[in-house]
Amino acid sequence: MTVARWSWLGDRLAIDVANTVRRRGWRYIELITSPAGLGAWLEHERGRLAIPAQVDPVLMSRFLAIRDQVLRLLRAAAGGTALPAADVHAINELAAAAPTVRLLGTEPGQHITRPVTRADQATRFCADIAAATIDLLTGPDAAAVALCDAPGCGQLYLRGRPNQQWCNPHCGTRARSQRHAERNTRTTGWLTTKDADCRKSAYRSCLYGGRAWKP
Ligand SMILES: [Zn+2]
Repeated sequence: MTVARWSWLGDRLAIDVANTVRRRGWRYIELITSPAGLGAWLEHERGRLAIPAQVDPVLMSRFLAIRDQVLRLLRAAAGGTALPAADVHAINELAAAAPTVRLLGTEPGQHITRPVTRADQATRFCADIAAATIDLLTGPDAAAVALCDAPGCGQLYLRGRPNQQWCNPHCGTRARSQRHAERNTRTTGWLTTKDADCRKSAYRSCLYGGRAWKP
């Protein structure tokens, strides 16, 4: 795993968590495929997420379960639909299992987080991701959560302006090229029904890691 693999990280924590799947063509692939892979991702989040001493298959399994919940919630927010009740419940329960308090740091704008329970590291780790998701979806940026539908992207991001359609200019360029190519294929008859159906369903039904996934 290289730094370039995670070159888009650094957004809000909940968005970074959701963006651990990546679209290739119109299908999503899983980027966390081993505990070592999760450990490499966590190194990029060090400083805002306490890394448990044991990054093992159990932690990976818990992380992937939360990631799927976060992904469904952020996709719902990006699509302007109600948040899935089961995922809302799950995230709330996780956050409540190991709550933290924010304390003042010595610099303006700086804070220290302190757990208020004796929950184990893995539970606190899950709770911190849940709390970050709640912070995002209850804060002023909730309406700015968006999904970039450009070919080969499909990432969640925060809109910097109301009419922003792509997460970065490169995606806009690729999307325009794709539209241009599709116009040409329609006139020449190259676009198959399967291609069109695949694209239409990409927002709702994806495959990654060899297993079906429905947000
Ligand atoms: Zn994009």
